[in-house]
Amino acid sequence: MEISLKHLTKSFPGNPKKNIPDTIAVSDLNIEIKDGELMGLLGPSGCGKSTTLYMIAGLKAPTDGEIWFGDQDVTHLTPEKRGIGLVFQNYALYPHMTVYDNVKFPLTNLRVETTKKATKVLDNLEIKKILEENLDEILEIIKSSLFKGKFSKDASARKLVYRFHIVTSLAERIFKFGFQFLNSEDEIKAKKEEILNKLEEENKKELESLTSKGFTVDENYVVLKDGVPVEEKRRLTKDEIDALVQETARLVQINEYLARKPSELSGGQQQRVAIARALVKKPKVLLLDEPLSNLDARLRLQTREEIKRIQKETGITTIFVTHDQEEAMSISDEIVVMKDGIEMQKDEPQEVYNNPKSLFVAKFLGTPPINVFNGYISNKSLYIGEEKILTSDKLTEDKKVYVGIRPEGFMCDEHVNEKDKVLTLTCNQIVTMGRDMSLVCSHKELCGDEAKLIIDSDVKVSIGSVKFALKPNKVFIFDGESEERIEF
Ligand code: ATP
Repeated sequence: MEISLKHLTKSFPGNPKKNIPDTIAVSDLNIEIKDGELMGLLGPSGCGKSTTLYMIAGLKAPTDGEIWFGDQDVTHLTPEKRGIGLVFQNYALYPHMTVYDNVKFPLTNLRVETTKKATKVLDNLEIKKILEENLDEILEIIKSSLFKGKFSKDASARKLVYRFHIVTSLAERIFKFGFQFLNSEDEIKAKKEEILNKLEEENKKELESLTSKGFTVDENYVVLKDGVPVEEKRRLTKDEIDALVQETARLVQINEYLARKPSELSGGQQQRVAIARALVKKPKVLLLDEPLSNLDARLRLQTREEIKRIQKETGITTIFVTHDQEEAMSISDEIVVMKDGIEMQKDEPQEVYNNPKSLFVAKFLGTPPINVFNGYISNKSLYIGEEKILTSDKLTEDKKVYVGIRPEGFMCDEHVNEKDKVLTLTCNQIVTMGRDMSLVCSHKELCGDEAKLIIDSDVKVSIGSVKFALKPNKVFIFDGESEERIEF
């Protein structure tokens, strides 16, 4: 599902009596999100990310502008009518319910419009297939469900569901056939034949009953009346609900924990349950509001990978809100960077890093962050202090600028030629980190306390004054007033 935001604006009224001005949380946002794309909405606290997400979800009404899902204007639709799944940072699971019931919850009152199917026949065919192809394995599973000498029906059903991806009621029917009470091969064989015949007989009767009521079925057992599929609007059946819960639980890999309560799960597993609950209704759009921020560093990394996998597997259009640039960079197909309710840049992650359009974006992305110096353009050359950094015909206007240099943009040793354009920094600290070396440096034109440089650890550097050559593609010039990028 493609999403378009058109001139989307949200202001919160202030209070003139208390001298509180209006807040423009989101201002004239125009964004297209492609079908199946994962878009990261990135920006500092208070920049309007959550407000944007809640407007897309239908939880907050825009002051102006429109929201389109495909060719439908959803601006004034209720959240239920938008077909979205929403995940918050605090999971918001029901603590007294099992994981199964938590995931099932959104389906309980759901009404669906579907074509009628001969479900009893389909169920019987599924059991028949499993008995014909996997009887030995079924016998193993049923035997392994003996616990302290007693047969556990629940455990047996769960194992059958887990192994054969069937609904619980079918698993229960299978173990109720009583294979566990049989000993000899001949008995088992005879039982299997008896069941297969019984299923065959039931199906024949069911189809005859449908025919007697004037229905037919097609090759997929869709029920037809006068050759046309019969449509019905109804609640989901217990089996349909079970099938959806099991399918979603498998997708997010929580199917082993369905019988547990949320408190018996780790934070990452709980968040996966919240994602399952958002996905179980098969929404067209998945909205994630800082879903990883309550997790510790290791789980955050793991869950981030999980979300990426689930998103790719389902192909669901997803918006992921975060203030963590590294998270946004690693998970998103595209990133929108926001500041004060305004879109600053929308691009692929690497492009936002390599080609920031403004000082704000350049500073927001990258660890360690970009090093910013006061500089000026004079006579088509860029200067930091007295040192000429580079020359370009494109630098036509003499003016005050900011110069951003990425930590990996500095070269020393054999790269530095006295005649080259160099920048001299005072190196105060050297930290070797295996392959790379981190230098902490100072310079009188530096904005901020210290510059952090990453260079190859083979290079010889010592404390004190060091001359650096610069990689031109790691140097960015920004207007001293507007802070917009100046190309060179
Ligand atoms: P965070 O990362 O901290 O959650 P955010 O980028 O999601 O921040 P929003 O929650 O969208 O930011 O808030 C955007 C701006 O709107 C903020 O300045 C906030 O104070 C303001 N705001 C949000 N909700 C209201 C409200 N109900 N009434 C008044 N101002 C609000």
